[in-house]
Amino acid sequence: RSKAKFEMEPNTGVTFEDIAGVDEAKQDFQEIVEFLKTPEKFSSVGAKIPKGVLLVGPPGTGKTLLAKAIAGEAKVPFFSLSGSEFIEMFVGVGASRVRDLFNKAKENSPCLVFIDEIDAVGRQRGTGIGGGNDEREQTLNQLLTEMDGFNSNTGVIVIAATNRPEILDSALLRPGRFDRQVTVGLPDIRGREEILKVHSNNKKLDKDISLGVIAMRTPGFSGADLANLMNEAAILAGRRQKEKITMKEIDDSIDRIVAGMEGTTMTDG
Ligand code: ATP
Repeated sequence: RSKAKFEMEPNTGVTFEDIAGVDEAKQDFQEIVEFLKTPEKFSSVGAKIPKGVLLVGPPGTGKTLLAKAIAGEAKVPFFSLSGSEFIEMFVGVGASRVRDLFNKAKENSPCLVFIDEIDAVGRQRGTGIGGGNDEREQTLNQLLTEMDGFNSNTGVIVIAATNRPEILDSALLRPGRFDRQVTVGLPDIRGREEILKVHSNNKKLDKDISLGVIAMRTPGFSGADLANLMNEAAILAGRRQKEKITMKEIDDSIDRIVAGMEGTTMTDG
């Protein structure tokens, strides 16, 4: 009956082991995992846990994966909704979808709500091209109302992801809303090696392959790029009817991904 189009995963099955090179962010979220496991332990002593956390970082750095891992570690349901899905909707649908999402989340607490691309709906109000966008503003207002409408005892944690925190409406960042910020950056060489390890787990690698060397040769690669690299290499090995991925497939895949990166121009809005 409901028009809600958010997704719900009872158990994401993702854990902190599936995500590498973001030790600091994992550390920052440890408290939230503990809270989701046993909210009553915290509320009984009067502890106030943040309700909303803003997860900031460039595309492909594992923000979605990290949010899923938090839910997976705590073994609580994961609700998700993408901000960009609101953009082409009929008037009123965005707001009611937000309402539905929060109602479902409260029914299923403790749980985690993830809002991807919050900037699509949470841009500063009254600054849209050609004036304000009523639909978007209604949705944003509903989100603010929902954030204010429960307290941390409810056992719902909302994580919102963005790669453009500077354009967000400041009302979103007020106390009691998304008042905590966790940043994930592009991985450094050690982080890249660890991410490569995660994505080599289920693959057959020739013994001449050194993940350290691959990490050295992939500056600027995000976690998503590295996952893509290992998969491309596996596909090439399959196509070449090899029993294992060799450095040749890795080299060819790096070349392809780098060529793809150079083909896209960076814009900063
Ligand atoms: P976007 O901002 O584009 O939505 P994101 O930051 O949410 O990106 P994810 O969608 O979580 O990034 O990452 C895409 C995929 O890249 C993941 O499913 C995973 O396979 C891989 N990946 C990204 N970062 C990491 C990481 N730190 N460790 C392991 N895998 C990673």
